[in-house]
Amino acid sequence: MGETLERHEFGAEVGRLLDLVVHALYTEREIFLRELVANAADAVDRRRFEALTDPALGMPAETALRIVPDKPARTLRIADPGIGMSKAELAEHLGTIARSGTLAFTRALAERPAAERPSLIGQFGVGFYSAFMVAERVEVTSRRAGSEEAWTWASEGKGDYTLAPATRAEPGTDVVLHLKPEAEEFLEPFRLQAIIRKWADHITIPILVTHDGK
Ligand code: ADP
Ligand code: MG
Repeated sequence: MGETLERHEFGAEVGRLLDLVVHALYTEREIFLRELVANAADAVDRRRFEALTDPALGMPAETALRIVPDKPARTLRIADPGIGMSKAELAEHLGTIARSGTLAFTRALAERPAAERPSLIGQFGVGFYSAFMVAERVEVTSRRAGSEEAWTWASEGKGDYTLAPATRAEPGTDVVLHLKPEAEEFLEPFRLQAIIRKWADHITIPILVTHDGK
């Protein structure tokens, strides 16, 4: 870290959108897990798909997604053996909103009944930012399949993010949430299991909730 840490401003619309997502959906904040699990499962599917034409990207024997609460550290980690993101992809996918849907999302949030809000977030492709409903800091360490390099993207969701070189033994992604004090309920394995049963029932990849980092 240190001198290799790069600081970047979020794309213009990200700050506004973050605010919107965090406040509009607060009563349904457990959906952050649905969104992160969906992204993890998508990443595994993409790696499988790309491996059809580039066997060098091949899947490891174990394809489970892991959800790892660590109570002493007050962190929740969502790990996947998926396609991963390069440095440029981390900046592009997590630091900018390239999609034209932002304005439409803002309108829909204002116009539709509150009960529809949790489904809007997935529909408009802004799910990752829902992590900031429960986390005061989010760190994403990722290694793109086919590459040796890993990078950590980190942000407190307040206008900027950092990128720093990292290491990761295998391709894939770790999303580490440093939970807000009032979000400690998301360290309870039973609570996590219940959310997964409710929202991620359709996901075919195994999802393992393990205890306290072990
Ligand atoms: P959406 O999933 O609808 O595209 P998100 O805000 O949830 O929107 O995620 C933005 C993008 O970030 C994804 O499209 C994907 O490219 C990238 N991304 C997020 N999480 C992961 C992950 N675990 N592995 C690989 N890429 C990811
Ligand atoms: Mg998503």
